[in-house]
Amino acid sequence: YSTSSAVDNPITPSIKVDYTQLLINGNFVDSASGKTFPTYDPRTGDVIAHVSEGDAEDIDRAVSAARKAFDEGPWPRMTAYERSEVLFRFADLLDKHTEELATLETWDNGKPYEQSAKIELPMISRVIRYYAGWADKVHGLTVPADGPYHVQTINEPIGVAGQIIPWNFPLIMFAWKVGPALACGCTIVLKSAEQTPLSALLAAKLLHEAGLPPGVLNVVSGFGRTAGAALSSHMAVDKLAFTGSSATGKIVLTSAANSNLKPVTLELGGKSPFIVCKDADVDKAVELAHFALFFNQGQCCCAGSRTYVHESVYDEFIEKAKTRALKRSVGDPFKAGIEQGPQVNRQPFLQCGRSHVKLIPMEMQCCHTDANAYLNQIDSTQFKKILGYIKSGVESGATLVTGGERLGNKGYYIQPTVFANVKEDMLIAQDEIFGPVQSILKFKDMDELIRRANQTRYGLAAGVFTNDLDTANTLTRALRVGTVWINCYDVFDASIPFGGYKMSGQGREKGVHCLSNYLQVKAVVTKLKNPAW
Ligand code: NAD
Repeated sequence: YSTSSAVDNPITPSIKVDYTQLLINGNFVDSASGKTFPTYDPRTGDVIAHVSEGDAEDIDRAVSAARKAFDEGPWPRMTAYERSEVLFRFADLLDKHTEELATLETWDNGKPYEQSAKIELPMISRVIRYYAGWADKVHGLTVPADGPYHVQTINEPIGVAGQIIPWNFPLIMFAWKVGPALACGCTIVLKSAEQTPLSALLAAKLLHEAGLPPGVLNVVSGFGRTAGAALSSHMAVDKLAFTGSSATGKIVLTSAANSNLKPVTLELGGKSPFIVCKDADVDKAVELAHFALFFNQGQCCCAGSRTYVHESVYDEFIEKAKTRALKRSVGDPFKAGIEQGPQVNRQPFLQCGRSHVKLIPMEMQCCHTDANAYLNQIDSTQFKKILGYIKSGVESGATLVTGGERLGNKGYYIQPTVFANVKEDMLIAQDEIFGPVQSILKFKDMDELIRRANQTRYGLAAGVFTNDLDTANTLTRALRVGTVWINCYDVFDASIPFGGYKMSGQGREKGVHCLSNYLQVKAVVTKLKNPAW
């Protein structure tokens, strides 16, 4: 690997963390309990900042503020154009503060700074401008109903939206959620991911600077089982939008059903096939398949994590995939030219003990009876989870072509890893690893490929690499997934709908399709005195 020595000598970020409290009703406030939790630098495991820890009481305060802002405040009553102006000003501020936002994103998450600043921040302001443009174009229809009636539909904002986001693209997820909801006139309580709470607080502050009235967007940092659960089961929340794992998706859907039956959209996990057909230019296919899997340290819901390669080019592909993985530059994400930083990590602590609360550092044993829960939590850390899957790949008989180990002694770096001879019944071909682990499978003919590619509980995306029009069209129609990328991957224009089939989710984000998530349709039927007109 072209590993940077900076893995062990991390660069100190040049900004300071200004916002760590909860944002409720336009003010930064402490949590009701006064509790905080640490957020960690995945390069070192060191604490970046202590952040206010919201729980049920704070969610309640935030929902009350959002409710009042919706029921009595100016936001849903402003002209749609005024709302769009706020969003346009917000997008300009995002551009102006790119360096600060990108630094927070990289520091908290571990993704390369160049990716945060040059790819993600421009995508974020673009998505906000896209929905700013929609605000005054959301309108109803006139309906030619039978009978002496004048019939119209009015599209109204759905109300208070609860939004729960993950840690892999904290700011992109923020923008995908708040952009359409605000354009439609909704108010929001957003719960950020406990691993990456920092960037959402700064972005929300900029949104207020752009003219957002107090209470319209409330941001509560905190954990899933407390703050997240309180939000999804809240009786005064009118709609829930969730992005995260399929397992948590089931929980929030159940909470929504068991509380007030609020409608839920879910953007969940994936195990997307990337298909290299026999006519492929192998060098180009290797590069695209590498990008499809390794981008963002492999922590993408739509990662091309099952690389299917036609038998005629299979051996050449494996050799070249290995060479490419070995060339991947892994190191301090703040360093220029780095392609891969550390994996994010879950909070490596548990609040232990009944008489006192103690934070246990990672790798330390605990003397209390809660130790088992602690160890379970450690087992579920992203870093250990990935190493566990690599072990399972080897044990189940896949060929480890390269990688497979931790990199350096500090932080959560993992070698770019490639497995060949992977079979569908192996865990590494079924589960979402969410790490830099490429699993390569061989195929022979189209029918067999289609059956195998669909043989998963997920259905988020697929990549097809071919110049044969009929192959591309056949696969596009046969694959049960929400997005098919042909000769490209991870193209996320604001106008393109994104979402999953099967256990990858319900509903779509981005594009025009997302607006309906945040709208109610009201039918208005007026009796005509003189039906002749
Ligand atoms: P996760 O489900 O553990 O957490 C996601 C969010 O849900 C976090 O904010 C978390 O605090 C919250 N949460 C956890 N338990 C909760 C509960 N009981 N009630 C309410 N909220 C709860 O997922 P993760 O591991 O943080 O994120 C990675 C997952 O997200 C992957 O599976 C990935 O595929 C998925 N993802 C999907 C998309 C998409 O658009 N389809 C995008 C990004 C990530």
